[in-house]
Amino acid sequence: MLRPSFNFAGAFVLLAVGFLGYFNVVIRVDPNAALSRFNTLIDSGAPARAVGHGERALAMQLKQGANKEDVAALKTRIAAAQIIKARYARASVLLEDALATNWAQGLDMRDRIRLENELGRAYILSNSIPEAVSIYASFLDHAGDAAAHIHIADNNSLAVFYAEFVTAVGDEFTEALDHTSIRNRDKRGRRAKLVTANHMASLGGFYSMREESTYAASSLLSIAYETRRMLLGGDHKDTVQLALILGPLYTRMGKLDEAEELYLEAFHAQEQVKGANNPDLSLYIRLLAGVYEQQGRLTEAQAMLVHMRNLFRDAFGEQRYEINQDSDRRADINRPVSQYFMLEPSYAPGDLVPASSYSIPTGKAPELDEMKLRLAADPDADPREANLPVRLAQLISSCRSETGEQISLRSGYRSYGTQHAVHQRNGNRGTVTPAGMSEHQTGLAADINISGRFMRQSDRTFQCFEENAFRFGFLLSYPPNNGYLPGEDSYEPWHWRYVGVQTAHLYREAGPYHKPQEFLAALPCYRERAANGIFPAAGMEDICLSRQADTTIAATSGDAPAMNDMATQDTARILNNGILTAQSRQ
Ligand SMILES: [Zn+2]
Repeated sequence: MLRPSFNFAGAFVLLAVGFLGYFNVVIRVDPNAALSRFNTLIDSGAPARAVGHGERALAMQLKQGANKEDVAALKTRIAAAQIIKARYARASVLLEDALATNWAQGLDMRDRIRLENELGRAYILSNSIPEAVSIYASFLDHAGDAAAHIHIADNNSLAVFYAEFVTAVGDEFTEALDHTSIRNRDKRGRRAKLVTANHMASLGGFYSMREESTYAASSLLSIAYETRRMLLGGDHKDTVQLALILGPLYTRMGKLDEAEELYLEAFHAQEQVKGANNPDLSLYIRLLAGVYEQQGRLTEAQAMLVHMRNLFRDAFGEQRYEINQDSDRRADINRPVSQYFMLEPSYAPGDLVPASSYSIPTGKAPELDEMKLRLAADPDADPREANLPVRLAQLISSCRSETGEQISLRSGYRSYGTQHAVHQRNGNRGTVTPAGMSEHQTGLAADINISGRFMRQSDRTFQCFEENAFRFGFLLSYPPNNGYLPGEDSYEPWHWRYVGVQTAHLYREAGPYHKPQEFLAALPCYRERAANGIFPAAGMEDICLSRQADTTIAATSGDAPAMNDMATQDTARILNNGILTAQSRQ
């Protein structure tokens, strides 16, 4: 058989194999060759093929004595390629190592955050959810205020930079949590589980503020809720707190049954802790009513709302007059004063000070009683700084520099006797209140003069007071159409009354518009309501005020209690049925 002495094709193949063999040997032993191959493939857009060379270069460098600082940068580049190859667990190991070096500490801040974000994503994609939520919860801590405000002016701030990374991984969280049951997989201890639940709660809260991240929010919050419910109990405040974020979210998503179940559980947990008639329960009842309304269960919704009002009335309405007429409250800086809350002739404040000692310009001789005000120092702040005259002086001085108008104190403290005499002189002509009904007797009220006459609504200082007085603890006691005073025109744009900074803020934010005395009378109710986050919508009856109308305008009509009893029974039935329904669903 004739055989060709030389096979050109065969020789070529042999050569090629030999060359490749040689080449592979080189990159196997020479880290630089492996590295350059890695770089070339990365640069030419073939990260998946590059990975092996990168890992080999890394291994050889380490074998030849390179330390973790030397290889940190390489590790981050290999990690990026591993993520593309979907080897997320390996990528996270590489990134963890790299981030734990001085090299990483020396990076530009934003570059380091980008790497941390890569690690976070690698964790999510490798189903290391506790590690991932820990990273993004720390991003939220750094984002601070930027996390709370979706529209923020300074788009280049580091806070926004952090917040944007958190926003960007919302969908990845949703997807990962969809096919991961962390509840069953998580074998860690109670403490570690609770830490993860905290991280999930803060991330879920963040996502819940963003419409596009609703699903991420509900996944994270529902796991956090379950964890807390199991480990802390359904009545623990941290569990309840989550129910209050998760419930509205479910409602928004149309998951009304889930929302109902959550609220019922929270309601009953609170009922156990606080008792059936506690006004705190009204929050859950209101939320339930909202769900029923959306489900078209209007009768049940109505019964809930009636029940809620009754709770508030029982808690605050009956007590309101007793509390406010209690003589111990006479010296309270937020005590109401009106024809319903009269001051006794003998009452005089014990901490009157001359306004002039606090740089308040006085319109009359500074030593007169009328030029005195209460000190009313804040109980837990520096009494030299946190008190009525200092704050009034600050308010006057800031408004003076804004308007250039000449502002002075026209009238401060007036004793019962003085008030009586002034009232006798003026009669019921609007501007003078009968003795016992005047806030001047408390030493907390200040009539303000502009250029030696009563301040008017048209004065620029009045606008300045309207906008700023609450920051210094003052409110306008006799707003237009108040009906407080016996005269024809009871509006007093010059009369400002100190209630303390906190109370003035609360009035501004949550008080009944232009009804300061009612607000002060029902202050415990407003405080409770604000603490529960209940702010009635426009046109809704103000629960904190409703009993007052009953007792002051007319005797309660005969059928009202019967109706209330009936409504309460209805509500009890609905709530009980609700538990049964919720239980049968489980
Ligand atoms: Zn006055």
